[in-house]
Amino acid sequence: MVKAYKIATLASHSALQILKGARQEGFETIAICLKGKEKPYKSFGVADKIITIDSYNDFMNVQDELIKENAILIPHASLIAYLGTDKVNELKVPYFGNKGILEWESDRTMERKWLVKAGLKMPKIFKKPEDIDRPVIIKFHGALGGKGYFVAKDHKDFKEKIKNYKGETGYVIQEYIVGVHCFAHYFHSPLTGELELLGFDKRYESNVDSLGRISARDQIALPTIDPSYVIVGNIPLVVRESLLPEFFRMGEDTVKESKKICKPGLFGPFCLETVITPETEIITFEISARIVAGTNPYVDGSPYTALKYDEPMSTGRRIAREIKTAIKTKQLDKILA
Ligand code: AMP
Ligand code: AMP
Repeated sequence: MVKAYKIATLASHSALQILKGARQEGFETIAICLKGKEKPYKSFGVADKIITIDSYNDFMNVQDELIKENAILIPHASLIAYLGTDKVNELKVPYFGNKGILEWESDRTMERKWLVKAGLKMPKIFKKPEDIDRPVIIKFHGALGGKGYFVAKDHKDFKEKIKNYKGETGYVIQEYIVGVHCFAHYFHSPLTGELELLGFDKRYESNVDSLGRISARDQIALPTIDPSYVIVGNIPLVVRESLLPEFFRMGEDTVKESKKICKPGLFGPFCLETVITPETEIITFEISARIVAGTNPYVDGSPYTALKYDEPMSTGRRIAREIKTAIKTKQLDKILA
């Protein structure tokens, strides 16, 4: 039965893991790849078929081929970033996930409403620059991968720095939370109703993660160094065990609330992006309503999936397992859009 379907994804972000996981569950796999970027997908041998496109705009043109192959498309951040939510909504090829939730996560106001209702603590938002009374991080709408953020220590500093961003229109001024970053990876199965905690990671961001290598004295001597948050990789993490009950609560309430705002709610993989303060308060600054690349260190499973499964279980494989179960129990309509 599984052989009647193929698993397809855009070749970037977490595609290697998604395709490998699909293989492990018995699916044939398809990578849709930008011309010139095929090497990893060929070298690691995770794709049964590579469909090459000249530009991301051509993605819409390969849909008929995907439909003919009976492919199920697995979304990730690169697909959303390169196609945009409008195009993703127009996709005709079967899509793993709830497309309606995209609107809720891409609009910061809607996202906040959802997460606050779920009982998550979030950074304070300053509506007007004049209200800034503590360190803040300024996020421009549409900023990708942490590029184009800046931090300001007070209102005066903000006024100085915003001058460098003349062309930018919308932005949000968020309280800067001092603590350690922790990205929680979840999977909610609409078939079993269970919320699973699959792992955690922390990010490796340029240049903010290397500023500590420059002494404060030299940083002052080089005033042009401003932190930037461009993602270059992900580092595995295991959290203090006593934090786990709250992480489970947060994941479960996020799913519960999502069912009220956008039926049938959030399912499949998702991630809560948090900062944990010295008071062990967990502050959530973002949600990703799909697989995050922070799960990539766990192609062979994480310490948490090792506890639950007696076999290597990556997030990519967990997605394929859900699709396989849905095929076998004739419930595909519950997980595809
Ligand atoms: P890319 O295909 O690598 O250019 O990534 C497209 C978008 O996906 C980026 O702008 C990021 O927002 C996101 N992304 C890619 N890789 C990662 C990662 N390792 N961690 C977090 N976000 C990522
Ligand atoms: P985002 O694009 O929202 O995932 O954020 C990119 C990076 O900016 C994060 O990984 C953090 O390093 C940093 N960041 C975002 N929001 C905050 C915040 N409120 N406080 C501290 N750091 C933040």
